[in-house]
Amino acid sequence: MIRKVYKFGGASVKDADAVRNLKDILEKENRDEIMLVISAMGKTTNAIEKVLADFRENNGHLELNALSDIIEYHENIMTDLFEGNTSHPVFETMTNLFLDLYLNLKETGYDYDYQYDNTVSFGEMLSTTLISAYLNECGIKNELLDAREFIITDHNFRAANPEWDDCRLRIQKLNDNHDGTMYITQGFIANSVSPKTTTTLGREGSDFSAAIFANCLDAEELTIWKDVDGLRNADPKRFTVTEKIEHLSYFEAIELAFYGASIIHPKTLKPLQNKNIPLKVRSFLDTSLEPSVIDGTKDYIKYVPSYIVKERQTLMSITPKDYSFMNEHNRALIFNIMDELNIHANMTQISALVLSICFDENEKKRIMLTDALSQAFKVKYNDGLKLFTIRHYQEGLEKDFIEDKKIYVEQRSRSTYQIVLE
Ligand code: ASP
Ligand code: MG
Repeated sequence: MIRKVYKFGGASVKDADAVRNLKDILEKENRDEIMLVISAMGKTTNAIEKVLADFRENNGHLELNALSDIIEYHENIMTDLFEGNTSHPVFETMTNLFLDLYLNLKETGYDYDYQYDNTVSFGEMLSTTLISAYLNECGIKNELLDAREFIITDHNFRAANPEWDDCRLRIQKLNDNHDGTMYITQGFIANSVSPKTTTTLGREGSDFSAAIFANCLDAEELTIWKDVDGLRNADPKRFTVTEKIEHLSYFEAIELAFYGASIIHPKTLKPLQNKNIPLKVRSFLDTSLEPSVIDGTKDYIKYVPSYIVKERQTLMSITPKDYSFMNEHNRALIFNIMDELNIHANMTQISALVLSICFDENEKKRIMLTDALSQAFKVKYNDGLKLFTIRHYQEGLEKDFIEDKKIYVEQRSRSTYQIVLE
């Protein structure tokens, strides 16, 4: 029985030492009940994105050496891990993957999103092929599975949605004939049927993949291994003093993710919450540290205030041209258009005549929204703003952050304080 799903992200397998560390962690675990979900190594996804842009700019007319950074990066890790034993069959398998990636990159006649999923997905294929072979070589027996045979989605390239019934049927079979060999598979990548083609779940989607596997396997836990000791109440890269949150509810975690806390991929929590599967966030750098745990706790937890900053925000103010109030009819009209354009409001505020909405900067979508509204509404906007949220707000906590910056909108509920500022 697979009881635990372990997700290892790009940073945890970014070089040969990191992969050796992964091996050390697994040596101490009960591997016959574990499934590993692994991302592309380091910043490989970004690297393939960039190469794809180069190929498209050149209509596919680039040589294999356009990929040399990606190839060398993986080959260096492989040579280090296999101590130069280039006769190991994994070298040939990896070479074939590089060539296959190259051929897919040349297919620039296809729609961008389609080609994106068909190329960027190689990051995960490369990492899992290499890691699975290395672990087998070290005596950590495992079987490599192609996630595309298990995670079935629609054709919404770059943000595909799982077909849950199909996923469940396929994934549950893994337990039916499981002989205790540890499974390894890819995060992020999936497949759609008819027509059969590779899809992806969206950037940083490996957490979501792991949650889909955990849900369909009725796993007892999902552990996301990170380079931090758990969840913190603020981003340590931005705030000098932060506190660890040891235990929080799904509800609270979803709220934090909604406001932009980049803890885990926002789609990850629901499949876990539905089956009451705890999510642990644990350090791969120091396994002696207690993980943060997100679960269905109903106990009253006294949360410390959390600080979340979202950069590159657009604030748009929308006023009816005929000076009718910003009533329900007008609001419904505006929100319907936003829904169609897939624009997510990070904050809204309404006065008699003005609806202010804050959303992630996206020039194309902003222009489409303005055009769609222009007949009935006057639209003004500012770019380059920050949205600052404090969950579990206490009086005065915002002062240090605001300093003398210009405030555009300020809003406060019992538990949450938000401002949009320059
Ligand atoms: N490799 C993918 C990305 O970088 C998926 C993931 O890491 O979660 O977005
Ligand atoms: Mg990642």
